[in-house]
Amino acid sequence: MGIPVHARWWVFILLAVGILLVLSLLALDRPDVVWVGESPECPHCRLEVRWYSHRCADCRGEFDWTSPAEEISPISGATLSPQEAEWVRDRVKALTAEVAAARVATALGLELAFAVEYLSSVAKGDCGWCGGTRLDPSDGSGEGLRCPACFGSGNGIACGGDRTMRIGDQRAARAYAAYDRELSDLMRSQVPDDIKRQGARRLAREFLASHEGTQEAQGIVFWPALLPGELNGHKHPGGMPTVVASRERLNLVLGALAD
Ligand SMILES: [Zn+2]
Ligand SMILES: [Zn+2]
Repeated sequence: MGIPVHARWWVFILLAVGILLVLSLLALDRPDVVWVGESPECPHCRLEVRWYSHRCADCRGEFDWTSPAEEISPISGATLSPQEAEWVRDRVKALTAEVAAARVATALGLELAFAVEYLSSVAKGDCGWCGGTRLDPSDGSGEGLRCPACFGSGNGIACGGDRTMRIGDQRAARAYAAYDRELSDLMRSQVPDDIKRQGARRLAREFLASHEGTQEAQGIVFWPALLPGELNGHKHPGGMPTVVASRERLNLVLGALAD
């Protein structure tokens, strides 16, 4: 006498539920990977583990892969530090807003009205290109008035505004690899320069829409300067990272307000 057919189904379902329950308890039980600086360590034996792995190659212990907490994430130097932001506020006060804006407008080759807005907006963690205004009247390249560096978020692209960069984000790493590949293909193609620039803009905007604030965002190329040309008074053959373009603009602002 075997088990009746309809009862077999019940046995099967109960077994399946039981197995799922045990598996989820095991998964809940797994400790997180331990971050020491920028290197991931096994929570069981504390030896370094492979990025994005879930099992230690040495002790075979299992763990969950997670990004480190914000407090121990690396800092992005592409935006103003709290001290620099305070210095800017003090200097604007000392020089008066009009004089400070006039100096910045000259140094950056921008309209005075934008320099006024830039200086009243810029704070720690802000996009250095637009100063957190989200706009860029100097752009004139088809993006309208939207900032070509942060695409209107107003944040430093590698920190998302809090100055810390998220590391160990596997989705960002995959998206960046795809961005890099597509940009290389675009640069090798025979299309006119303008099409290359617009393509690079689209790729950068798509990446940042989901992965602003990640370490990978540091590699995004500043698309208006994608092709050999001059930016911030320097020659930049073959493009430059957006974080560098933004930081250079901040440096020009700091220089203009000095003395
Ligand atoms: Zn281990
Ligand atoms: Zn911006």
